[in-house]
Amino acid sequence: MRVAIIGAGIGGMSTAWALRKRGAEVMLFDQGAIPSVTASSNDEHRITRHTYGGLPGYAALMPHAFDTYARMFADIGADHYLPTGIIYAARGGEDHYDEVAADLSPLGIAHRRLPLGELAARLPFVSLNGITSAFEAGGSGILFAGRIVRDLAAWLAENGVEMHPHSKVTAIDTEAATVTVGDRVHSADLVVIAAGAWVTNLLPGMADRLKPSRQLVLYLEPPAHHASAWAEAPVMIDVGPDFGAYILPPRNGTRLKIGDHRFTRIGHGDDDRIATDFDIAPVLHAAQTAFKDFDQYKILEPKVCYYTVTDDERFVIEKAGSAAWLLSACSGHGFKLGALMGEGLARTIMGDAPAGDVTAWAAGRR
Ligand SMILES: Cc1cc2nc3c(=O)[nH]c(=O)nc-3n(C[C@H](O)[C@H](O)[C@H](O)COP(=O)(O)OP(=O)(O)OC[C@H]3O[C@@H](n4cnc5c(N)ncnc54)[C@H](O)[C@@H]3O)c2cc1C
Repeated sequence: MRVAIIGAGIGGMSTAWALRKRGAEVMLFDQGAIPSVTASSNDEHRITRHTYGGLPGYAALMPHAFDTYARMFADIGADHYLPTGIIYAARGGEDHYDEVAADLSPLGIAHRRLPLGELAARLPFVSLNGITSAFEAGGSGILFAGRIVRDLAAWLAENGVEMHPHSKVTAIDTEAATVTVGDRVHSADLVVIAAGAWVTNLLPGMADRLKPSRQLVLYLEPPAHHASAWAEAPVMIDVGPDFGAYILPPRNGTRLKIGDHRFTRIGHGDDDRIATDFDIAPVLHAAQTAFKDFDQYKILEPKVCYYTVTDDERFVIEKAGSAAWLLSACSGHGFKLGALMGEGLARTIMGDAPAGDVTAWAAGRR
């Protein structure tokens, strides 16, 4: 079996890793370097967690997602996961604690409501203004995404994957399993399209379902008097009336980061990445609300990136022709589940799992 994979983000590279381990011949194409600086997967860190309050079905997949990363890390020879636990703060509105508790208890993962006095003592940099409830849970932490895709690329190259960096695929034949790069046509038995926020360039018919979304994160330097508390902090979700902030503390040489999980659903992977006031304003507002003394934080970098979303935020793995599969991570949970999804697609391609099952499985509906 010879497979051509388009896209060297976590989805495409994990598929390549799992296919190669099952003996397939793999060609991996990316329009940029591998990993590419503009890939959504290539950022300092991503949150992973077992909690899935608002999106039924995925909590059951998370133990498998953690297991897949553990096996990948054993192969690449480095553990790029830091367990930190997670704290949720709600500034009014629902806090989803009951749903989270129902997901985590059967898995034996600790969770509890957090008294606000204890929150203030443990995380003195959090502004308590408007916080109505908080809870904490285990089974969560940081995946050092950039280090993962860097080491995975090295593993793939060392283990016989034919790497094609700086090779923009301009056409695909989803029946004949060919991909065109410049004036060269590469033949395979199967094509996998894992092209992230550029997917509609290759599959324009998917434009109604797969929407690129321009997102911004702020990298920050905390003031000296909060530095030691930040150095011990867990990952955090802080939901206000007009923002849904996710916050990654500065750990293991990475920087403090805050983003807003609400999708803009504007832009396209090909667009510029120059942060404007329009991009920055909502995240700045979230940071000003969430952090005490925010005027003493230094903004190190406002970073724009793009991911693809669907209306229901569920992964898409489906046939895109008789000789092609589409793999699309469809929301802000694409990295934590990316390795599992790639492996699930590889198992299906190699006949280790029934082809009819993978679409519902990827959507968290099995
Ligand atoms: C700001 C932000 C915060 C996020 N936070 C989290 C988080 O905390 N936890 C989490 O789990 N997920 C998070 N995500 C989501 C996650 O990062 C993405 O869903 C995931 O990385 C997508 O991986 P991918 O492989 O599908 O796409 P990408 O990583 O974007 O890879 C796609 C690749 O395809 C290549 N490509 C495209 N078209 C072509 C072509 N024609 N020819 C050749 N190559 C092509 C691109 O160059 C790119 O390298 C976040 C995303 C963003 C943007």
